[in-house]
Amino acid sequence: MSAQELVLRQRTEILHALCSSGSAEHLDQVLDILLSQGELVPEDYQNIQVPGRSLYTKTRQLLDLVHAKGVDTCVLFYAALKQVLPEGQGAGFSFPGIGSNGEEKEDHPSTSTRTLLAQRPSLVSELQGCVEDALHALVITGHFTSADCNDVRLPVYTPSQQARRLLDHVRAKGESAAKVVLRYVQQKQGSGSSLNQENWTPPKENHMQTVCYQKKLSSSVSAQSCFLSTYGGTSHMALDDIYTEGQLELAHYCGDVHGPLGLEDVVGAVGTVNKEADTVLVSGDAGGGKSTLLQRLHLLWARGTLLREFLLLFPFSCRRLNSERQDLSVKELLFDHCCWPDREQEEIFQFILDHPHLILFTFDGLDELKHGFSDEHRLCCPTQRAPVQILLFNLIQGSLMKGVRKVVTSRPEAVGPVLKKHLRKEVLLQGFTPSGIECFVRKHHSDPAVASKVLASLRTKNALLGLCHSPVLCWIVSHCHKELLGCGEGSPRTITDVYLMILQHFFQHRSSPKSTTGTSWLQEHLDTVLHLGQLAFEGIGTSCFIFSPADLETCGVTEKDICMGFLVQSKDMSPTRSKCFEFLHLMMQCFFAALYIVSSNNADRSIISNLFEPQNMRATGLGSSSCFGACSSSAGKQGQALNGEAASEERPNLKITATFVSGLLSQRHRSLWLHCCPSAVTEKRVRQVVRCLSKGMHKHFKSIPPPVDGEKKSMHAMPGFVWLIKCIYEMQDSRVAKDAVSKLEVDHLKLTYCNIGPVECTALAYVLQHLRNPVGLQLDNNSVGDVGVEQLLPCMHNCHSLYLRNNSITDEGIRKLLATGIHCDSFRKIALFNNKLTDACTQHFSHLLKSRQDFLSIRLGNNNITEEGAKQLAEGLKSNRSLKYLGLWGNKIGDAGAVALASALQSSTSLVWLSLVGNGVGNAGAGALANVIRNSTSLEELWLTENCITRSGVECLVQALKENTRMKSVWVINNDLTLEEVEDLRQRESRLTF
Ligand code: ADP
Repeated sequence: MSAQELVLRQRTEILHALCSSGSAEHLDQVLDILLSQGELVPEDYQNIQVPGRSLYTKTRQLLDLVHAKGVDTCVLFYAALKQVLPEGQGAGFSFPGIGSNGEEKEDHPSTSTRTLLAQRPSLVSELQGCVEDALHALVITGHFTSADCNDVRLPVYTPSQQARRLLDHVRAKGESAAKVVLRYVQQKQGSGSSLNQENWTPPKENHMQTVCYQKKLSSSVSAQSCFLSTYGGTSHMALDDIYTEGQLELAHYCGDVHGPLGLEDVVGAVGTVNKEADTVLVSGDAGGGKSTLLQRLHLLWARGTLLREFLLLFPFSCRRLNSERQDLSVKELLFDHCCWPDREQEEIFQFILDHPHLILFTFDGLDELKHGFSDEHRLCCPTQRAPVQILLFNLIQGSLMKGVRKVVTSRPEAVGPVLKKHLRKEVLLQGFTPSGIECFVRKHHSDPAVASKVLASLRTKNALLGLCHSPVLCWIVSHCHKELLGCGEGSPRTITDVYLMILQHFFQHRSSPKSTTGTSWLQEHLDTVLHLGQLAFEGIGTSCFIFSPADLETCGVTEKDICMGFLVQSKDMSPTRSKCFEFLHLMMQCFFAALYIVSSNNADRSIISNLFEPQNMRATGLGSSSCFGACSSSAGKQGQALNGEAASEERPNLKITATFVSGLLSQRHRSLWLHCCPSAVTEKRVRQVVRCLSKGMHKHFKSIPPPVDGEKKSMHAMPGFVWLIKCIYEMQDSRVAKDAVSKLEVDHLKLTYCNIGPVECTALAYVLQHLRNPVGLQLDNNSVGDVGVEQLLPCMHNCHSLYLRNNSITDEGIRKLLATGIHCDSFRKIALFNNKLTDACTQHFSHLLKSRQDFLSIRLGNNNITEEGAKQLAEGLKSNRSLKYLGLWGNKIGDAGAVALASALQSSTSLVWLSLVGNGVGNAGAGALANVIRNSTSLEELWLTENCITRSGVECLVQALKENTRMKSVWVINNDLTLEEVEDLRQRESRLTF
């Protein structure tokens, strides 16, 4: 029998040999060999290696191609297979005799690109241990951009795949790039070790002046980033000692990305949605760790451990750029604001212009810029001067310095559609995971016994644990551990509680103990509160975050007030500026602004309504007296917002301030204001806030459209809804919460893509537990996580369905969720597509199925459930008579899992819909499922797309369908069938979809 015939005959065995391990390595090696022999051309290779395609599909494609190329190629294919497969693994099929055709062809490639192909198998093994160094060589010789590097480095690739990708890119770049790689490998072989930056000699001329500048810049960046900035006023903490990984995720669902993102992925290629754009946005709430993350990136770059593809990194703070009044050119921006070159400025700037792919800019806090992003004013010339915001916007959109990568941070509310269209990708920073909280607390306390006590205390205070998910709150809680450990019943629950805790902590630590007798701590420090409060308040109104001595004087801020530690000296790169101050953190500024609104007798009556309903604003109120020289002479975007001009998403600081005002006016804190304001004034303010919240909620409900015929009434949350819920939570008054939802009569509450994390979950549960009728709560595509799941438990009795797709939930979260959910009679449906679930969660579902004979739907698609998990689920299904929908799309249950499920569902009278798409199910599984078709009286749809069922498996399904007229469809797209087989089977059974 010829090798060509054998390729057909042994197709299943070959597929099994190359794919059953789940690793693509064997297939890749076979492809390398065939490419090197010229049996496949690069175009063939690309047609096979289509990203996102399953290993089985790629292998099938190769088999078709090899077969089509004829007998010689088939012989070489078998030779490659024999070379690649470990002894014994090819035992399932026979190799044809490999004659002279199977030996390597004599080949003397004439060009470097062809050498690259001819030596591909050995180059892959040479390069796989030193891809980084090879990339470096390609970058400094100007052949690779950072985008190319990122493409090679994608974490989904194994080291050998990275080497292959590198070679593919090099081939596309042409001869000169190929030469660099071959020369690099030669040098490596010569030196016997991996080559690093020092001993690699770039062939191009050496830019000495740039190298010197790079050294100066990196030592300045290193000096600025090695300590955590907001500790300036309290203690110095080295970033290395305290930095804790936050959760990073892509804003857009990206099927290829599994597992959490690492710091390197912020700039890397992962999740790129617009390859033409240069700007990556890192978004996250205030206090979520955006500045700290950038600081970490800066430090690692300065040390040469990360972002090595960038020779120069220029860090900017939008907060500081606000105070730049002069028009600037790009050159002045870089050199004046970041690092001044001691010599050869022109040459260095020219180098920057000539090598954009070696340069990285970072802009921290775009939301703090006085001007909202706009792309109306275009600027293309790097030497032309313009106001700093115009410069910045043009850099971000790429009309200036195209090709330079930029990383920008901002709160999500401040990012509008105009900016979004210029983004390469958006990465969400979502605070600490439960283990992150633990890690942070342990790093924060040098005494492990104290750390353990703080953690034990946090575990008993659920709401507080939810708050600690936010790094800034975690810092406060750790910082105030004595107060925390001392409080029993009255432990902090709201964000306002936590900020009051730190206020008290700072006051008590900075003043003499004897002075605190007799009067309340707040009364004692009222002057400081009012001075700093006014400063904060005026600043929020005018988007001013850095204050000059004159600003401090205007608000009566004294040296004593500064000593309390809420203000820190502003870090400014320019030595010429006078000493300026800023609040420890923006959240702290909002808190002081709120304190001012609540405690000042002078505060205007209209402030509260302006704060909650800026669209109705009159001319008075917040921000009207723009008295600060350091920040602005014209009111900034907050001011515009207060004048009703800007969209509500552009006023995140006002929203935070309003949230604090709600908290400070809660009944629990009202005694604090007794000595500052007449109680009638405070009571009036409370009534005003309650009225605004109630009005705001009812406005949302009024916007709900009537239900479409045949569907239940559904509300899709509008911007601002979650914020109102948070304000209500801060008030901690169940009457307000009840009133808020009393008119909410919907069956389904949709809060997808609403930036909901644990803090928001706590507030949601607090309010939704008062709903009159259960709802379907749809929280897909947020960052609920395990901590958030725990926060939701109090409202579980009011949820008939819970949709938590794409929320980073693990088995532990599910354990807690189901332990409560099992006792909630209304709770009937759950959807958990794309979380972090493994087999360990299935025992809880099994228990649920056994205990609840009214549960309707479980969807666990795109998790990591294997045969073991399927067997656990099957245990539960055996004794369940209610489940109608079971979704396991994109797991790994294989044949054994499918057989176990099928035997449990054998004669199901409830299951209507079953999906086992993309689960590695073969003929054994199909055979068992055929029995379900035969016997079940309820099943209507069975999804088996993207599996490895062959003709005989599908035959079983066809036979079974003959005995079942109720079944509507069986989906078998992308299984292991030839075109002829598909045609034949389709003719015989119309309910099969291929
Ligand atoms: P944002 O820029 O998002 O407002 P910051 O980066 O200023 O937030 O973080 C606020 C505070 O939270 C920091 O000063 C620090 O105390 C703490 N923090 C934030 N992120 C981290 C982190 N990754 N590791 C340790 N502490 C952090």
